Amino acid sequence: MRSMIYADNAATTKMSETAVNTMISVIRENYGNASSLYSIGQQAKEILEEARRSVAETIGAEPSEILFTSGGSEADNQAILSAAELGRKNGKKHIVSTAFEHHAVLHTLEKLRREGFEITLLDVHENGIVRPEEAEKAIREDTCLVTVMYANNEIGTIQPVREIGEICRKRGVLFHTDAVQAVGHIPVNVKEDRIDLLSASAHKFHGPKGVGFLYARKGVRLTNLIEGGAQENGKRAGTENVPGIAAMAAALKEAAARMEQNRASLSEKRDRLIRGLKQIPHSALNGDAEHRLPGNVNFCFEGIEGESLLLLLDDKGIEASSGSACTSGSLDPSHVLLAIGRVHDVAHGSLRLSIGEETTNEEIDYIIRSVSEVTEYLRSFSPIWRDLESGKKPHIL
Ligand SMILES: *Cc1c(COP(=O)(O)O)cnc(C)c1O
Repeated sequence: MRSMIYADNAATTKMSETAVNTMISVIRENYGNASSLYSIGQQAKEILEEARRSVAETIGAEPSEILFTSGGSEADNQAILSAAELGRKNGKKHIVSTAFEHHAVLHTLEKLRREGFEITLLDVHENGIVRPEEAEKAIREDTCLVTVMYANNEIGTIQPVREIGEICRKRGVLFHTDAVQAVGHIPVNVKEDRIDLLSASAHKFHGPKGVGFLYARKGVRLTNLIEGGAQENGKRAGTENVPGIAAMAAALKEAAARMEQNRASLSEKRDRLIRGLKQIPHSALNGDAEHRLPGNVNFCFEGIEGESLLLLLDDKGIEASSGSACTSGSLDPSHVLLAIGRVHDVAHGSLRLSIGEETTNEEIDYIIRSVSEVTEYLRSFSPIWRDLESGKKPHIL
């Protein structure tokens, strides 16, 4: 079998060697329960607290402000439901968010809507970026939470989090950000960004799956999702996933140490890929070209069906996605692409390539060649493309 080019790092990343080794070593040597008083229990407790210090440091938080979870989805749920619970107590039942959040956020908001909360979704505009002044205008007397993601998982656009954080702090409204795509990839500092609640997930920065964390600023009272023992300061019951947490901390430390270097070289490769794909007729980059994650490229091609494109690229050894991994399998076009104003037909022909540090320039060029060939081939027998070319239907891109 020939080697594959993995270009779906936004869906998940390969664990780093350091993270794998840390995990194996903790599984082998430190199998104690962190709540036990004998020495192997206490060793596990030490590993846990060292991981908490390390994770806290990389985002500018205090160790006591970090709560370990089973991943980004759980952190999103707990952050939003905690803010809603505080709002309910104060008679504030209005939440501000955006239409292109991850479903872990959107579906939690939908649940709250059914419970009587009012949700305002901010416009993300054509470039996929929220305008802080619009966030400010949306805040009301009864707003208990603003939740805006740090960077979008499909189109990679980076949001003006600091400006929104400052507005929220000034207006006395809690601010949560789903930073799953940002942490470990671009600088995030919870104090400078005025963040009250933040979600992160290890498997998006070369750590293991099934582990993540929630940052909750000191004084922000959390509501439990899981009741039971007194682990995690009584805020999340269940014996701690010590191997996973230790591996996450190791992966994050490594990602933070290499961030500047990786960010620069990855952005160059990303832009090379964007320049190449732009040469394909009737194509368009989705989301702002500048304010985007270093590894994210997302395109729409007219007259193309995304699923066919993915299958043919897979045949050529390229592993990519049409958008979010969570929505693949459904025939609806991406809610993110619809939110930035792409019409259904165009949104169906989308391709997300999320490259990583290991992607080479030769691989980038191979991807460009392959996407050009495959789009040309698919268009050669597409009835939609025929209508566009004959002028029966107007080109949009
Ligand atoms: C992957 C992802 C999540 C979910 O994280 P899990 O750890 O897989 O639960 C949430 N939000 C964003 C933006 C993501 O990319």
